[in-house]
Formats: sequence, structure tokens, C-alpha cells
Amino acid sequence: MTTRTIDPQTLHGFVEYRGVRLTAMGDDGDVLLAIGHPADQTAVKAMRTFLIADCGWARGDVADLGTIAEVAQLLYRRWAAVVTDCGECGGGEGCAMCATIRSHDWWLDYSATEPVEGGFPVTILYLDC
Ligand SMILES: [Zn+2]
Repeated sequence: MTTRTIDPQTLHGFVEYRGVRLTAMGDDGDVLLAIGHPADQTAVKAMRTFLIADCGWARGDVADLGTIAEVAQLLYRRWAAVVTDCGECGGGEGCAMCATIRSHDWWLDYSATEPVEGGFPVTILYLDC
């Protein structure tokens, strides 16, 4: 996989709550990604605010996710890098996955559990929606 080193603060499509930059990813917007490894309470509160303000969630639905401590248990602390190809085809033309990646402003691989070259810390919450 080819990575592109960027300043994560310059990625488009994020909003900021409590000093945490957030976005929703995935086909259904069911992956919340925060830049950095903020403290549990800060991360969860920022994500709750994001769900209500930017995703149209009802407060009751957000409450149903659990307490701050419960939601914090669901957070994944990972390292992300901006990738420019799928890492499997050699980056050639004609690869549907590479075409998808290139059609986006940015594409993150956020699977690393340790720091990666050119990467930055992220906090992930998978939503069951
Ligand atoms: Zn490819």
C-alpha cells in the first residue's frame, strides 16, 4: 500500500467538537473516526455531540449507546495513514478498488495498532445502525 504523508488537521470533511476532529465513514456512515487519541470522556462526548448535531440522531438513541464508560470500552485506538492504492494490485490501472480510492479526496487505512510511517493516531467507534 502506498501512503501519502499529510497533516491530518488538513483532511476535508471533519468537524470539531471539544477540540476533537471527527467524521463518519463507511458505506452507511457507521464508522466514527476521531483524529488523535483523546481521553475517553472527551472522545465519547465529542462523538455523542457529533451524532446529534451532524448525523441527526435523537438524544435517546445516543443515550442508548451506553454510559461514557460503556462507550469508551468500544473505542479502538488505532493509527491511520492516507493511502493512494489498494496495496494488492500493484497500483495499476483497471483496479476497481484503486479507482474507488482515487475518486475520493482521501482514503484512510486505520487498521494499524502501532504507529505507522506517515500515520497519525485515530480513535474509532463502530456503530450498530
Ligand atoms: Zn488496486
